[in-house]
Amino acid sequence: MEQTDTTLAEAITLKPIGIIRNDLAAPQLVADGDGLKLNDEPGTALKKFHEASDARSKIVIQEEMADLLEGIEDFSHIVVLYWGHEVSDTGRSLKKVHPVGRTDYPLKGIFSTCSPARPNPLLMTVVRLLGRDGTTLTVSGLDAIDRSPVLDLKPYVGEQFPQNDTFVPEWMDAIMNEYKESDEMKENVNENAGDLFCSGVLESARIEKLRINPRAEFGEALRKKDIATCLVKTAEIHGHYCPGSALGVMASMYGLHLLGPDCMNSDGVMENLLAIVEINACFADGVQAVSGCTLGNNSLIYRDLGKLAVTFAVRGKEEGVRIRARPEFKKYVGDAVPEFYPLMEKVIMNRAGTPEEEKSFREKGQEAAFALMKLPFEKIFVAETVVPDIPDYAPIAASAVCPQCGEIVMATKIDRDTGMCFMCSRKYREVEGRGIVEKA
Ligand SMILES: [Zn+2]
Ligand SMILES: [Zn+2]
Repeated sequence: MEQTDTTLAEAITLKPIGIIRNDLAAPQLVADGDGLKLNDEPGTALKKFHEASDARSKIVIQEEMADLLEGIEDFSHIVVLYWGHEVSDTGRSLKKVHPVGRTDYPLKGIFSTCSPARPNPLLMTVVRLLGRDGTTLTVSGLDAIDRSPVLDLKPYVGEQFPQNDTFVPEWMDAIMNEYKESDEMKENVNENAGDLFCSGVLESARIEKLRINPRAEFGEALRKKDIATCLVKTAEIHGHYCPGSALGVMASMYGLHLLGPDCMNSDGVMENLLAIVEINACFADGVQAVSGCTLGNNSLIYRDLGKLAVTFAVRGKEEGVRIRARPEFKKYVGDAVPEFYPLMEKVIMNRAGTPEEEKSFREKGQEAAFALMKLPFEKIFVAETVVPDIPDYAPIAASAVCPQCGEIVMATKIDRDTGMCFMCSRKYREVEGRGIVEKA
C-alpha cells in the first residue's frame, strides 16, 4: 500500500501557467543549512518587504490560456499560487526554522510557518487585481521575485475563509503586529508621495484601476448589464439625467450585446467598433459614453437624420446592428412621470419656464430616466441586422499653416481655390443644434 502511495506522489507534475514579472530580483529570506536568513537588518527588511508588496507586478499568463481568464477582472483580489524557484535543495530539506529568519522568535516546524523554504516551495499570496490586458494581469501586493513560475490563480472570496473564532500563537501575533505597524506607516507615506498630485476626489484604488484601463468601469457595467452605473457615468459628461441620454445608454448596451461578446473585451470595447448615430441630442451622449465611440477618437459617425437610432458596426465585419427607439417609448415616460412632457414643452420648447419649473424639469427628467431603465430593451427598441456603410479610417493629415491667419490647420482643410483655411475662405460646415449647417 505504502509503495503505491509513494508512486502516486512521485507522479505529480505541474506545468506553470505563466510567469511573474516585477522589479524584485532577490528574495528577502534565503535558506541555508542552518535555516532561514534575512538578507537585511530586520528594520530594513520590513521596509523592503513593504516596498515590494506595494509595488506592482505583472502576471503574464500563457496565450493559449486566455479563455481561462474570462471574468477574473470582476474580482478585486485574487489568490496567486506560484513556485519558489530559487529555493535550494538545502532549503527544501529544512525541518524547523526561526520564523522570518529571526532568532528572537522560537524555532518552529516548517509546516507551522509561512517560510518559502519548504519541501514543496508552493507559495501563495492574495493580491489586489488592478487590471487585465489580454493575458497579462497587473496586481499589487505580490511578494514574489521576478520570474517566479505561476501555478494557479483563483478568485479571492473572503467569506470562504473563517473570520471568527480563529487564533494564532503569540509569536505569529507578534510578527503580524510588526507588519501591521509598518503597513500603517506605509499608508501615510503613500498619501504624501507618488508622482501624481491627487487630492483624493477619486479614491486611489479607483485611480489605479482607471489608469491601467480607462474604460474598466464601463466595461464591467456593460458586461453585467448594469444600466444604472452607465447612466450615472454618462450624466458626468452629459450634465443631467434625461430620458434621451437614458435611451442612448440602453440602445448602446442592447446593441453591443447583440453585436456579440467580442465587441466587449477586457478593455471595455473593441478597437474597431464604430457607432453611427442619427441624432445630435441627449441620445448621442449616452451612445458616446457607453460605447466609447466618440467624436474625438473618430469612431463616432454623425448622420444628420434626426432619428433616435444608432448603428454599431465593427470594421472587417459585414453585418452590424441598428437599434431604434419605438415611438411608444414616450407613452412609457408619460405614464411613469406625467409631469415630464408638459414641463419639457414649457421649459425647453417654449423657453418660458420659471426657475422653479426648470428645477422641477431636471428632477422629473431624472425620474423619467430611471423609470425607462427598468423596461426591457425589446419593449422600447427595435433591433435590426444591417450591412452598414462605414467610412474609411480617419486619414492622418499633415498640418499646414494658413497664410492668412497664421493658424495651424490640417492640410486637408485648406481651400484649394483660395489656398487659405476654411475660416479665412468663409466656407465651412458646422454641427449645430439643428444639424449640419453650411456657412458661407
Ligand atoms: Zn439630456
Ligand atoms: Zn486662416
